[in-house]
Amino acid sequence: MKVAVVGLGPAGIYAATLLEGAGVEVELFEALSRPGGRLWTIADESGPLYDLGGEWIDADHARCLALIEKQNQLPRKTCGESLVCYKGEIASERNLWPDAARDAQRIESLAAEYANSPASAPYSIDSSLARFLNDTCSSERGRWYAEAYYRSDEGEDTSKIGLFGWLSGFVNYVGREEGTLSAYRFPGGAGDFFGSILNTLEAKPRYHSVLQSVKQSNNTVTLSFEGGFESVADRAIITIPPKCLLNVAFSPALREEQLNALHAIGMSRIVKLALCFDSPFWEEMGWNGSMLFDSFAQQTWHGSLSDKPVLMAYICGDDSRRILQRQDPIESVVNEIANVFPRAKTSFLHARLYDWATHPFSLGGFSHIPPSVSPQTLTSLRDPNGRVCFAGEHTAEWLGFIEGALESAERSVAEVLS
Ligand SMILES: Cc1cc2nc3c(=O)[nH]c(=O)nc-3n(C[C@H](O)[C@H](O)[C@H](O)COP(=O)(O)OP(=O)(O)OC[C@H]3O[C@@H](n4cnc5c(N)ncnc54)[C@H](O)[C@@H]3O)c2cc1C
Repeated sequence: MKVAVVGLGPAGIYAATLLEGAGVEVELFEALSRPGGRLWTIADESGPLYDLGGEWIDADHARCLALIEKQNQLPRKTCGESLVCYKGEIASERNLWPDAARDAQRIESLAAEYANSPASAPYSIDSSLARFLNDTCSSERGRWYAEAYYRSDEGEDTSKIGLFGWLSGFVNYVGREEGTLSAYRFPGGAGDFFGSILNTLEAKPRYHSVLQSVKQSNNTVTLSFEGGFESVADRAIITIPPKCLLNVAFSPALREEQLNALHAIGMSRIVKLALCFDSPFWEEMGWNGSMLFDSFAQQTWHGSLSDKPVLMAYICGDDSRRILQRQDPIESVVNEIANVFPRAKTSFLHARLYDWATHPFSLGGFSHIPPSVSPQTLTSLRDPNGRVCFAGEHTAEWLGFIEGALESAERSVAEVLS
């Protein structure tokens, strides 16, 4: 049996590893000139510098951690405490202002109740996460903190996140130990970690292969790529992100409910920024660089993979559009950080900003379930179409995460092998 795997993000790379492990011949296709997809380690001549795509592993992302262990490596543990900065006042995340802490506590306990029993939630399917947060918070500062916290997790404004979709993922958060979120990172950078796994495979990737159409006969699948090149396989696993999948012609066509789900699923608008400094001024101040901030750089953290100091920042949702309209988005962010930590201005060297919403082969950061969309409608995204199986974070229970990409690889490989 020969299986074509299209898309070499974590889902495609892990699926190929499992297939080869089961003795299956694999062919690998990727639109870009590099592996990793939305995992992208930026390097210079001295080695990896930082990750411009996904990087965090929660402590309960068992597949990610097992994969690292299998490579005889150790995950990088997150150390130190996060700060929270609102209207020039600084608190620590573990020691929040009492009004914000009370609101956060109320959100957690109500969300846990509704996640365990969605029918008990006094909301309709068109409700957003923002509406729930508005109803639950009693202080302005608490509402701001909740937005910053959940927007960083979802990569999108909470007004764009459906409450019931969010609750379907929150189930995984109920009863979690403190420190589970973003507990680890991949050794050497997430993109390079998966790239090195790809290098161990028998099959060699064919880069610059943009899938355009998938045609099935009784016995085969024919994949056609930009430029007219074709490949024939017994089966295919397609791992490309949902909005990109809409640009591929399927014969037989995808079922209507699958097409509807591809249209309905949301992709977060997320800009990631790497700010390079001549010294880690945050460490000199006894701070680990992590902060939730009421500025464009809504979340910062120390993201360096070398001894060159790098502070990473997320800018999500409407703010990601607004910052890109600024004449000098990077200068705006550095100035905002320098308003609180003046050393940021004098230590700043250069930066790299990446807007994932415009990446032609992801068309967004990661998926979420918008208001009015029921989580159940999206499960059709994982249904095989004849000899073609689908994987990728958007098809997983762990929607939006690297862990979900790996989960989807396991499921799609099991489908192919059965
Ligand atoms: C800025 C950012 C931060 C993130 N942070 C985290 C994090 O901290 N932790 C976490 O768990 N997750 C994070 N994520 C999400 C994580 O990166 C994704 O969940 C994961 O990469 C999804 O893997 P995948 O294999 O499903 O898709 P991808 O990684 O997108 O891989 C799909 C591949 O398909 C290729 N492709 C697309 N179209 C075609 C085509 N027509 N033909 C051929 N190939 C094609 C793409 O080039 C890509 O290589 C983040 C994402 C972003 C953008």
